[in-house]
Amino acid sequence: MTDVLIIGSGINGLSAGALLSKQGKKVLVLEQADAFGGAVRTEEITLPGFKHDLFATNLSLFAGGGVMASLKDDLISAGLEFVPSDKPYCSLFPDGKMIGITMDRQKNLETLARVAPEDVESWKELTNKLGQLAPHLFPILGTELPSFAALKSLFKTWRKIGTEETLNLIRLLLQSSRAFTEEHFEHPETKALAAIWGMHLDYGPDISGGALFSFLESIGGQEFGMVLGKGGANTLINSLVKVIEKNNGQLRSGVRVTEILVESNKAVGVLTSTGERIMAKNVIANVNPALLPNLLHEAPETKELNNFRPGLGTMMIHLALDQLPEWIDPAAKEFNYVHIAPYIDDLALTYAHAAGGMLPTTPALVIGQPTVSDPTRAPAGKHVLWIQVRVLPLEIRGDASGVISGKNWDEISEQYADRIIENLEKYAPGLKQLILSRKVLSPVDLERYNPNLIKGDSLGGSHHPAQFFFLRPTPGWIRHRTPIKSLFICGSGTWPGGGVGGGSGLMVSKLIK
Ligand SMILES: Cc1cc2nc3c(=O)[nH]c(=O)nc-3n(C[C@H](O)[C@H](O)[C@H](O)COP(=O)(O)OP(=O)(O)OC[C@H]3O[C@@H](n4cnc5c(N)ncnc54)[C@H](O)[C@@H]3O)c2cc1C
Repeated sequence: MTDVLIIGSGINGLSAGALLSKQGKKVLVLEQADAFGGAVRTEEITLPGFKHDLFATNLSLFAGGGVMASLKDDLISAGLEFVPSDKPYCSLFPDGKMIGITMDRQKNLETLARVAPEDVESWKELTNKLGQLAPHLFPILGTELPSFAALKSLFKTWRKIGTEETLNLIRLLLQSSRAFTEEHFEHPETKALAAIWGMHLDYGPDISGGALFSFLESIGGQEFGMVLGKGGANTLINSLVKVIEKNNGQLRSGVRVTEILVESNKAVGVLTSTGERIMAKNVIANVNPALLPNLLHEAPETKELNNFRPGLGTMMIHLALDQLPEWIDPAAKEFNYVHIAPYIDDLALTYAHAAGGMLPTTPALVIGQPTVSDPTRAPAGKHVLWIQVRVLPLEIRGDASGVISGKNWDEISEQYADRIIENLEKYAPGLKQLILSRKVLSPVDLERYNPNLIKGDSLGGSHHPAQFFFLRPTPGWIRHRTPIKSLFICGSGTWPGGGVGGGSGLMVSKLIK
């Protein structure tokens, strides 16, 4: 009999599968889609030879995480190849100003001295602060919450940095990105440079908890750069699959689990959509917690999962380009991510509109230029552009611009994508003429690929404080355990949340004896 049956082949399911199969467990992964990887998938979705990361593209979390540390040699011999970038991100503003963050601290200070001189000292201080806090913050991401180990780690932090700094750290965890950036920066450009990172998750600038991501990602980009997958993010998925297969594990795509079989409050296997019953000693669900009540026949223990809330929606626009965009500051061509938000008040308005069901007029754009560091993703001289639109309504009630009348993504996604491209023209004149082909993936398309992305929520559940840290996903389902014996959970709906890190896969693998 299978030792461990894993429902879903997301980064966390595959990480758990690779680690457990390497320990000698008999692993079976069942995936409903036609390909493995969940929100990590690369395809020539526009034109032949143009490789697009359909969803996630930035693999930095995985490259610096615990699964990589445990399986490095196996993954590399299975073909994993990373492409590092020392120019991770920039923010571009409507008046042509740009702040680009590289891995060269001195160069960043020179950039800030030019664009935002009053913020140079603060940037230096925050750089030092990350250096001081990193040894305490990063290990927490790999620790079960709540746990004795986490308490011990907090105690050690307190011993090292003292009461006042520990309280300041807790304050940072609770702060909004607006409060954080107003505390540290003078210039609207520097504030926006940091605050946009909160919007990668679902932290509008006024949501408590956004400061941590604005701080970690903006300064972390300088310290660690960014990591992409060579030829596409699926180099990571392919290598994890190979590690599982090499260790006698099995993976089956196109198999949807419709029920988790439970006997005497113990998970004993699953039922698939074709009526197949597959028995197993342990079941790991790499499934959005909000979908578990359905797989467990609405058992009373699952009731609280119905309160697990999604984050706001995301849309992806993939472009095959004749050349890189002619940004209003040409230096933007060198960076992996170009952020066009543009300022904090725009982020706040976009967030409020999307939360209220309105299509934002100028949503925040995260524009990936992977071919800058990895030319293998397109034919010689050509490029792909990865455009993530943050944030969008879960249900469309109207249009903040009063132009689009449809309420259904299938009806309006191309029209909305036209709006994004028009907005982009202001930052990259002539972009439209460079587009060889375009593919739009609306929030509902995202959910069609991967049911975990409920209504296009890219995060597998909102990351607001009430369902983050030791509360993820809900109080009765923490620590990757469940009220049902031998049933475990991992994935972005569990701690440490969204991102291509594999952290919850690693933690859940340690629970299986
Ligand atoms: C558009 C987009 C862009 C992103 N960009 C980045 C980025 O650049 N960097 C980053 O770090 N993170 C990014 N993220 C977030 C990151 O990709 C996700 O948080 C992460 O990949 C989720 O992994 P997971 O383990 O939760 O599984 P998922 O990716 O959700 O995969 C779970 C799998 O389970 C399958 N499944 C679900 N139910 C069943 C069932 N009943 N039967 C069988 N199979 C089932 C699904 O089909 C899916 O393949 C992005 C996400 C999106 C959507």
